[in-house]
Amino acid sequence: MDESPKIFTQIPAFLEYLGPECSPAIANAAPHGKLDLSPKFPFVCSRHYADLIKKANEPEALLREILPHVDERENVAGFVDDPVGDLPAGKADCVIQKYDRRALIVSTATCGARCRFCFRKNYPFQNIPDVARQVSDWLDTHSDIWEVILSGGDPLMLGPGEFRDLVEAIAMHGSVTTLRIHTRLPVMRPDVAMQHFEFLRELPARFECVLTAHVDHPDELDEESQMVFGQLKYSGWTLLNQSVLLKGINDSAETLEKLCRKLFVQGVLPYYLHQLDHANGVAHFEVSDEKARSLIEEIRKRLPGYLVPKLVREIAGEKSKTPV
Ligand SMILES: *Cc1c(COP(=O)(O)O)cnc(C)c1O
Ligand code: SF4
Repeated sequence: MDESPKIFTQIPAFLEYLGPECSPAIANAAPHGKLDLSPKFPFVCSRHYADLIKKANEPEALLREILPHVDERENVAGFVDDPVGDLPAGKADCVIQKYDRRALIVSTATCGARCRFCFRKNYPFQNIPDVARQVSDWLDTHSDIWEVILSGGDPLMLGPGEFRDLVEAIAMHGSVTTLRIHTRLPVMRPDVAMQHFEFLRELPARFECVLTAHVDHPDELDEESQMVFGQLKYSGWTLLNQSVLLKGINDSAETLEKLCRKLFVQGVLPYYLHQLDHANGVAHFEVSDEKARSLIEEIRKRLPGYLVPKLVREIAGEKSKTPV
């Protein structure tokens, strides 16, 4: 039996688990002296993601997503704590409403792993004892809301009971016809995503159900993500994906093409390719707009239209995502 923990929070134990065969990729992702062993934004990586790294074609790309780099300590002009205007759009402790008649719930602070480029890196997550009650109270007085997005953190990190309570609280409000879940668990913690299956499978009978996955690199997809997506698709969920365009990770036409095609094989359509949100400590991941546009032009030539994601950025205060 495998005795390794499901989650690594210590970098040395994580590197030891990866083993010597990953050393060249590690040296590539975080050259000597560049690995930050005590980062401000904590290191967290699942064993599943470590296993993906071990079998990856481009392990350095996945390592860059997860290994703290000293560049994160740099203060760069224009990179701020609340890059997408979450705080001014906060309506209750866990409800963010930026767009008309649609609302987003910060369901929990926890994720299956911590992505180094996270846009909510510096978000002041609050410990909300009863998210379901708070969301329900807010929806009571906002009967125009028709789409509720569960985000976070990762909503599927809630325990099965808490998750069910939250969804049931939303379902009590007849105005809400679409339930959307934003999650990275199909690639970070498919084991945890599976714990919700029985309940998730019932939901398309009650809402239009959309699961928006967050996958950035084709090596993040394997037979376990395929299983998660397959089960959901079968039970009537619409499956979409959003990626962040990231320097050194997916900023090549080859990688993006592979990602879009592999998503499709697993039943998922590419939805958004996001230009990086300017959170403090992520500047080293930035890809220029010019390069981003040329990448999209290139993959448009290689892929059917339904596999080309929309290139967007989020501008605080705007009433929708903004095409780049
Ligand atoms: C991104 C976002 C949405 C979803 O926007 P779509 O363009 O519909 O994907 C909804 N609410 C908030 C607060 C968001 O940041
Ligand atoms: S899964 Fe999303 S919210 Fe969680 S650390 Fe990664 S980017 Fe941030």
